[in-house]
Amino acid sequence: VTPQRRAIFQALLEDDSAHPTAEEIFDQVQDGMPDMSLATVYNTLHELVDMDLLLELDLGPGGRHYDVNTADHAHLVCMGCGRVEDVDYDPSTVVLSPEHVQDFQIVERMAIFRGYCSVCISQGKGPNGVS
Ligand SMILES: [Zn+2]
Ligand SMILES: [Zn+2]
Repeated sequence: VTPQRRAIFQALLEDDSAHPTAEEIFDQVQDGMPDMSLATVYNTLHELVDMDLLLELDLGPGGRHYDVNTADHAHLVCMGCGRVEDVDYDPSTVVLSPEHVQDFQIVERMAIFRGYCSVCISQGKGPNGVS
């Protein structure tokens, strides 16, 4: 384990959102390791993903997020503030038709629920809000 890898993993564990982007991790590791470049952060994140220690999430606009929770779970994504929350999810409840299972080798499954969090709704940002 390289010091870079350890610093990045630590930053992931300490991140409040638990789903930081590479840029957010970069900002955080700057305190302890000011020499680390954004390219190193990207490379290290990809190594950790390859080692199955990290999930890379494409949650739509705003860049990829990284998740230390590698168990099957779904995400709630707030369209107002971008907050990402983990929710329990049973992948066996989502079933593909037999011809798809035959023709397609599944590598990962993802479920994303988009909407507005209570904070955003209280600020009038929801789908019925005045924004
Ligand atoms: Zn929100
Ligand atoms: Zn997650």
